[in-house]
Formats: sequence, C-alpha cells, structure tokens
Amino acid sequence: MALISFNRIGHRILAVVGLTVTLGLVAIAWFYVNYQERAVLAQNERNMLKLTETVSQNLQSVMLAGYADIAQSFANRLHKVEGIDDFHVLRVDGLEAFGDNRTIQDVNRRRGDEVFRERDKETEERKLAADNPQLLQAVESRAPVMHYTTNERGERSLRILAPIVNQKACHKCHSQTQAVRGVILLGASLQTVEGDIYETRKASILVLAPTLLATLFLTGAIMRRSVVRPIEKMTHAMKRASAGELDQKVPVKGQDELAQMAGSFNTMTNELLKTYQGLRLEQDKLTTIILGAREAIIVTDATDQVVLVNPAATRLLGKSQDRIVEEGFLKLFDEPLLMEQWLEEAHADNGPHTLEYNSHVLSVHAARINDAEGKRVGSAALLRDITEEKRLEDELRRLSNTDGLTLLYNRRYLDEALQTELERAKRYHLPLSVLLFDVDHFKRFNDAHGHDMGDRVLKEVARLMRAALRGPDSPCRYGGEEFVAILPNTNKAGAYSLAERLRQDIERLSIDGLRVTASIGIAEFPDIDASQQSRLIEAADAAMYQAKRSGRNRVCIAHSVALDQGS
Ligand code: GH3
Ligand code: MG
Ligand code: MG
Repeated sequence: MALISFNRIGHRILAVVGLTVTLGLVAIAWFYVNYQERAVLAQNERNMLKLTETVSQNLQSVMLAGYADIAQSFANRLHKVEGIDDFHVLRVDGLEAFGDNRTIQDVNRRRGDEVFRERDKETEERKLAADNPQLLQAVESRAPVMHYTTNERGERSLRILAPIVNQKACHKCHSQTQAVRGVILLGASLQTVEGDIYETRKASILVLAPTLLATLFLTGAIMRRSVVRPIEKMTHAMKRASAGELDQKVPVKGQDELAQMAGSFNTMTNELLKTYQGLRLEQDKLTTIILGAREAIIVTDATDQVVLVNPAATRLLGKSQDRIVEEGFLKLFDEPLLMEQWLEEAHADNGPHTLEYNSHVLSVHAARINDAEGKRVGSAALLRDITEEKRLEDELRRLSNTDGLTLLYNRRYLDEALQTELERAKRYHLPLSVLLFDVDHFKRFNDAHGHDMGDRVLKEVARLMRAALRGPDSPCRYGGEEFVAILPNTNKAGAYSLAERLRQDIERLSIDGLRVTASIGIAEFPDIDASQQSRLIEAADAAMYQAKRSGRNRVCIAHSVALDQGS
C-alpha cells in the first residue's frame, strides 16, 4: 500500500508545498555552490596570474642583471613550489629556453665578447607545438592567456602562458625584431582549490538538508493546521451528513474562504435538519393515518415492486404482507389481467371498481402514480370494504320494492319489471303474459271479521300466488286485494293454465272456516298491442272485470271469450 495516498487533499497540498520548497531550496543551493565555485576559481586565477607576473618580473630582473643562467636555475626551483606542477620558460616557437647555445652565441656575437659560456651539452625539448593556439594568442596579444587542462588521470590544472615582452633593456643583448622574447608557462594543480570547493559543497549540504527538513516540517505543520485540518473536518462532517446525520457542525475560525465554507455548511445542515424534521413529522402523521386506516393501501415503486402494505390490506385480502409483496401488485386479487385493465383505464377517471374477494365486497381504486413530468413513479391501490354497505343497499332496494303486508313485490317494482320484460319480449320476439286477479267480495271479510282477518286472507292468497309461480315470474301486490304476476316467455295458454291452477288453490283455501275466491284476468303480448306497458295491465284488468261480471271465481283472457270454470 502506498504510504501517501494522493486521493487525500492534505497529502496533495503537502506534496505540492514540499516539492516547491525543495525545488526552491535546491535551486538556491545550486546557485550558491556554483557561485562559490566560480568565485574560488576566479580567486585562484587572480593569484596565479599575480604569481606569474611576479615570476616574470623576477626572471626579467635576473636576466637584465646579466644572470641568464641563474634565471634557468630559478625556473627549475619553481617546480618545487607547492601547487605549481609545471614551470618552463619557452621560446615563442614552443621549445624550452636555455636548452641549447643558440641564444648564447647570438648574445655573445651581439656583445662582441664571450659574455656567456656555451653549454657543454645541448638539449632541445618541445613543450608546446609551435601552432599551439594559446601560445599564438599570448604572443600575438602580448598578454597572459589562461586555460584549464585535464591530464590522463583526470586531474585538472590551470595553465597560464605569460609573454616575456622584448623591452628596451633587452636590446642590449637581443635583437629588436621580435616583440615577444619568449613565454613563461606555468601550470598550477587545481587539487587544493577543488578540495576547497568540495568542502564548500559539503558545508552547503550540511546546512541545506536540515534547513530543508525544518522548512518542510514547518510549512507542512502550518498547511496542515490552517488548510488540511479544516478541510478534513468539513469532509468528515459532509460524509456523516450525507449518511443521514444532519446535526453536523464544523468550527468556523477566522474569515477566510474555508471559514465561509464552514459557515455555509453549518447553515445548510441546519436548514436541512429543520426541513427533515418537518418532513419526518408529516411522514409520521401520514404513517399513522396509513397504518390506522380502515381502507387497505398498497403502493409500489417504479419497478412495480410492492413497497407498502398496511394492516387493513392484509386483513381485507386475507394474505400476509410477505405474500402480497412476493405475489406482486398485479396479483392482488389473483386476476392480473383485470388489474392491468383497471390500471390502464385509471387515467380516464372511471371511478372505483367493485369486486368480491376473500368474502368481502371491495371497492377498488387502482391507479398509476406519475411525477410532474409524467414519468411513472409507481402504482397504488386503495381498497374499501363495502360488504355491509352493499348488504344495506340490497336490503334497502328489496324493501323499496316489497309490499310490507304480503312481502310480494310492490307496485313500484311491478312498473319497472314490466317495462324491462316487455322490452325484452319485443327484442327477442317472445310472448309475455300478465295475470291480474282480485279477491271476490273481499269487503265482506273486513266487515264481518275485522281488518286483521282481511289482512290474513291477503297474506294467505299471496303465499299461494308465490307458490304457484316459477322462478322468473314476478308476483306483485298491485294494490288493495288486487295482485299481478308478470310471466315472461309465457303465452296466454300457459298463463291460463297457471291462472286456473291458482284459482283452484285459492278456492280450496279455508281460513278459520272462511272460503276465499278470486277472479283472474289475463293479457298476452303480442296478442294485445302493448305500445304502452299500461295497456297490458288495463287489458288484464278489463279481463278480470269480465270474470267478475261473469260470476266471479273464474279466469278470463283479454279479447278472448272467457273460459268459464264452474264456481
Ligand atoms: P268485488 O268482488 O266486486 O271485488 O267486491 P269487493 O268487496 O272485493 O269490492 P271492493 O273492491 O269494493 O272492496 C275492496 C275492499 O278491500 C275495500 C277495502 O276496504 C278493502 N281493502 C283494501 N286494502 C286492504 C287491506 O290492505 N287490508 C284489508 N283488511 N282490507 C283492504
Ligand atoms: Mg278490488
Ligand atoms: Mg274484490
């Protein structure tokens, strides 16, 4: 693992600062050491130049005094001076002077005397090539020339070529043709100087390294305290805030950008906390409402995954919360296609659907939930248990259609049912018969035995009527002691046999020894024109009156000859 992670801003700042400081200090050190080196070399050059000048003057003095041989030995002695590893007096062509008798002979001839004794042994040693550039330059310029050389062992030395100018005083022995008589060659080793430079470098590094470390440490500490630590604190607080801990505060020190950032962060978390607490409160209220609601609530996310099921939902659907989640939203009622259809229709605002499930009658609102841009964010279903409502509604409907005394259908129901059945008969070209009967001399029961006895008679007749009819036939109390039966898909012959059976049943009735009879009229569609439904009843009523007139206790068919059944 890397010791320093550059993912952390503190490390990056320290790296940048460290690099800058290091580069700065190294640059200063480099400049200082080079400057020192140049200064030492320059000083050395000046010293050596002075030395050369001194030597040159001394040599000239000796020569002018007429001691040329002493000059040679002086030159030889200079070899032993520390730091001077080369010293020669050269002729302008690069050959060592004082080696042969050329000059001695020339001087003796010029002086006309044997001033200098010739050498017994002549030597000729070339120290520099005749076309050596430095040599040519020194002779040409009549000024000393310096340059650095490196020997085969890699040791550097400073070489100075100082011209010996042909002065007036020299003309006593030498000709005037040459401006320069010769050249002094002086080679000085740089070992000592380089040793000094090395020491300077060492000293510089010894000062620089601790200075660098101290500066790095100090800048690091300052940066850490003033920049890195505040940023780290803020980052830490931000991380915790983003993880939901909104009660985060960071210290605000000073007025710089970091302090302003810290202040803004504190304000932001404070505002977020307030908003969050408000939302939390609202959510708690909502949760309480949802959990306590009598209505079942099921909500999904955008992927149709069920994310909310309240206790009422498990109760109404008779399934555990886990099962509802597992089966999915579309299978709430085990009919995914139906549910899908409801969801598709929901936007048409087509009201709640009613469904019987798990022994409950449910009113279902199911809809997709979209956001402001119309993108689906989920679905929801609201289920209300309307079992009791439905029962009461049915009971109310039944009561509103029922006659209280006989419990047969009432006049209101009769009107509706007749209308429906007549339309059906017309549409499917089916026969429809209406049977209407009236209790004969009913008034007498009331008058002779009281109203209660009259009621008992009505109830008994109603019972017989209900027993005589088939399922689809509707027995109604038309009013008073008159009754009507609607007989779908029944022609007058069928109606007649039914009416006759009923008539006989009534005839056989005995209530506390009292006998009852009834007169019955029948009307059949399409036998009777029934452009208005009342026409059928009127025709049946007319047939019933026909039966009354014919002696009662009999059945008559509208527009047909009454079929007498003896009484
Ligand atoms: P008809 O053979 O001509 O039909 O003779 P009727 O006595 O039945 O004649 P009418 O239609 O004049 O009499 C009907 C009587 O029925 C009149 C009324 O007092 C009585 N009545 C009507 N509704 C009820 C009822 O709900 N209970 C009782 N007890 N009597 C009723
Ligand atoms: Mg009557
Ligand atoms: Mg009557």
